[in-house]
Amino acid sequence: MEPLVCSVCKQPVQISWNFCPNCGNILHARPLSTSIGRQLVIYAISFFLPPFGLGYAIKYLQQEDKKTKMIGIISIVLTILSLGLLVITLKGVMDYYTKLLNSFDLGNINIDSTNLLISPPPLPLQ
Ligand SMILES: [Zn+2]
Repeated sequence: MEPLVCSVCKQPVQISWNFCPNCGNILHARPLSTSIGRQLVIYAISFFLPPFGLGYAIKYLQQEDKKTKMIGIISIVLTILSLGLLVITLKGVMDYYTKLLNSFDLGNINIDSTNLLISPPPLPLQ
């Protein structure tokens, strides 16, 4: 049964209206687009801007339509893949900097300061 009053402001509304003219409440949930263009946008957001794709994924998963649900599932899979790649990349960067920091060990610093004591920098010419 379609509501004959707005669920938010209780003003009378007509079945054919998509929005309540009084408060702007959405009266009919419009079916989500499953066009190729829309899918590409959702997949791109899921992969390149995690976790923002999850908003779409959850909305699409809640639909009864199988195709719409599948878009939600693919979106979640892409989000997980993307986060996985991010973790692997970050780990690689961390390993790189850990090695870099380990190469500056205390032994090198001691040798440098000894050299400074043995041969002080030349005095500026008078
Ligand atoms: Zn209303």
